[in-house]
Amino acid sequence: MLAGLYRAAQHRRSRALLALLLVVSGSTLAADVPEEPVRARFAELGEIIRVTPQRAVPLLAGLDAQARRTPAEYARLLTLSCDLSHRLGKHVEAVQLCEQALQLGRQVHDDSLVARALLSKAYALFGLNEMSQSHQLVWEAERLAAASTDVDLRILVQISSGESFAEEGNFPVALTKMQGAVTLARQGGNKLQIAVALKSLAYLYNQMREFDKGFEAIGEAEQLAEAIDSPGRLAIFKTTEYILAANSGDMGRGTTALLSALALERRIGADAMIANTLVNLADSYLKQQDWRRALAYAQQALEQAQKLHDDALAATARVNVGQAYLGMGRLAEGKKHIEQGMDWYQRSGNKPDQQSVLVEYGDALERAGDLPGALAAYHRERALSNELFETRRQKAMMELQEKYEADKRQRQIEMLRQENQVKSTEIDNRRLQQRIWWLLALVFALASVIVGILYRKVRHANAQLEVKNHELKQQSARDPLTALYNRRHFQEFMRSHQDIGRQGAGTSGEDMVSAMFLLDVDHFKHINDTYGHGAGDAVLREIAEALREILRETDMIVRWGGEEFLAFLPAVPRNSLDEVARRLLAGIPARTIDYQGTRLSVNVSIGFAPFPLVPGTPISWERAINIVDMALYLAKGHGRNRAYGVRGVSGLDPAALDEVENDIEKAWRAGLVDLAIVTGHVPELRMAS
Ligand code: GH3
Ligand code: MG
Ligand code: MG
Repeated sequence: MLAGLYRAAQHRRSRALLALLLVVSGSTLAADVPEEPVRARFAELGEIIRVTPQRAVPLLAGLDAQARRTPAEYARLLTLSCDLSHRLGKHVEAVQLCEQALQLGRQVHDDSLVARALLSKAYALFGLNEMSQSHQLVWEAERLAAASTDVDLRILVQISSGESFAEEGNFPVALTKMQGAVTLARQGGNKLQIAVALKSLAYLYNQMREFDKGFEAIGEAEQLAEAIDSPGRLAIFKTTEYILAANSGDMGRGTTALLSALALERRIGADAMIANTLVNLADSYLKQQDWRRALAYAQQALEQAQKLHDDALAATARVNVGQAYLGMGRLAEGKKHIEQGMDWYQRSGNKPDQQSVLVEYGDALERAGDLPGALAAYHRERALSNELFETRRQKAMMELQEKYEADKRQRQIEMLRQENQVKSTEIDNRRLQQRIWWLLALVFALASVIVGILYRKVRHANAQLEVKNHELKQQSARDPLTALYNRRHFQEFMRSHQDIGRQGAGTSGEDMVSAMFLLDVDHFKHINDTYGHGAGDAVLREIAEALREILRETDMIVRWGGEEFLAFLPAVPRNSLDEVARRLLAGIPARTIDYQGTRLSVNVSIGFAPFPLVPGTPISWERAINIVDMALYLAKGHGRNRAYGVRGVSGLDPAALDEVENDIEKAWRAGLVDLAIVTGHVPELRMAS
């Protein structure tokens, strides 16, 4: 009765078979995944490796040269070689081959290749009883394959991951993985993949002792295998059904399943599988205490295992043979076979299996009545158990130690990383600060330059504005034709010098006054009419020039109207006004202009008066001008080319002043005003060619 032992062996095989089933170029797969010739050849080889590994040895060697042409193909070949060595029990060599495959896969950055190599290495490590390392590799492969477009690979890693979790006793996560694999396979719709995933799920239910669910899953898997006409896979699923049945205590169903499996395997000539099924059948009959059938199947199994050079299986078959003999009461033969079988376990260092054999061995001897033998087996089992316990304890200690060291290293790495991060952040900050300072300096410099430029511009603009303002002021004060002051300027001047009208201009002993002379050109229209407006303008400019020449620089000369001029003399002796009038009457006609061959000159009529008119009697300058205008009017009326000046107004009667303003001639005749008359001595209008 070696169910426990056999389960472990079966499990390992079933896992390895998954890879086979996923890569075979069978009728169904070939349609789904068209593969290149070499890769298709690899897939076939995978199947051969599982079923008849010995036959695969020369075939793999033959492919070597062809596969070496590309790193990817060579990596795949190395992974298959790893699987082959593992199947032949050469686990160390298998690990080395997988490592080469891994290196190549990483060189070509092919995650799928790397993941497959990792999985194969994990299986090889499982063979070396390195469970925890094996699991780590499976999970690493799972991470790598997560993004892969290779659905086969993704289903495979999920199944292997689920198996690893189950082996670590984490059934809930294992169940999630297996169900995930089934879902993924169902999405793909590939019946073979669905069946393979269901089979793994069924096996997990077996581990979880949920037999009903297990039977349901394996039932569906078997139906699918029949639907795709795959006797090989159906045989594998029948074996799983047997395991479920045996563990749930339904030996009848188990045996039936095994017999179906055997028939299928014989049909396709799968020797390795036949050997396994024979061992299982022997085991099954041992459990049912059908010693005769058990012996028959155990002997067949031993023969088959020897033919295949499968020492492990041969040892198990031999133990079964021995147990059957013991059951029959044939003690000597029984003991001999069992000891032979155990001898192999001992040599191969398989202590757990040896221990479970010893338990069953002791039970069988006891049943056969060999109590000393049973006791010896019991002691051996105890010793082995203690040894195993110690080894396990040491291993656990070492694993703990390793884990502690790894954690410590991880913490140190993390601390260094954080330290680095802090340092680099500091450096970054300093750099940033420097940059900010530079930027600020630059901005400041730029701003200074801009402000400087703007300041210069503003200063320049202000200076220009000043010049313009000055020009404008000049323009607004001057008459454009003659450049003399204009009437508005004179008005402003008089408004801001109102004291002029109230006091006398003189300070010395002489009687100094201000004086106004209003001049009007005689018959000026005639000039315009005869010689044109241009000639008139030229004459006006000439008169202005004459006035500047005749009068003082301190005198204000104003263009009063069209051909009228006003001279304001701020300080002049009262008795010299007639003389000024005389100079004007003589000086203006004296200046001639040459206009297109004609010499032109004009006479003027003048009205004038001192200002203030009567010392100590302030009158407004406007009234003073009105009176002067009246005098000019009188000069025009009395023959032109002459000047009429107001010398004085009789008394200080305001009514007399009104009279003068209204009608000067009448006032003059009435003796209200004293007038000076200065006549010009040249003809009124001379024209000489
Ligand atoms: P009177 O002796 O009575 O003063 O005769 P007048 O022709 O000088 O006087 P009137 O008032 O009849 O004519 C003045 C003329 O002066 C009329 C006008 O066309 C002319 N005049 C006024 N301003 C200007 C000027 O700036 N340029 C020119 N060419 N002619 C002007
Ligand atoms: Mg006039
Ligand atoms: Mg005139």
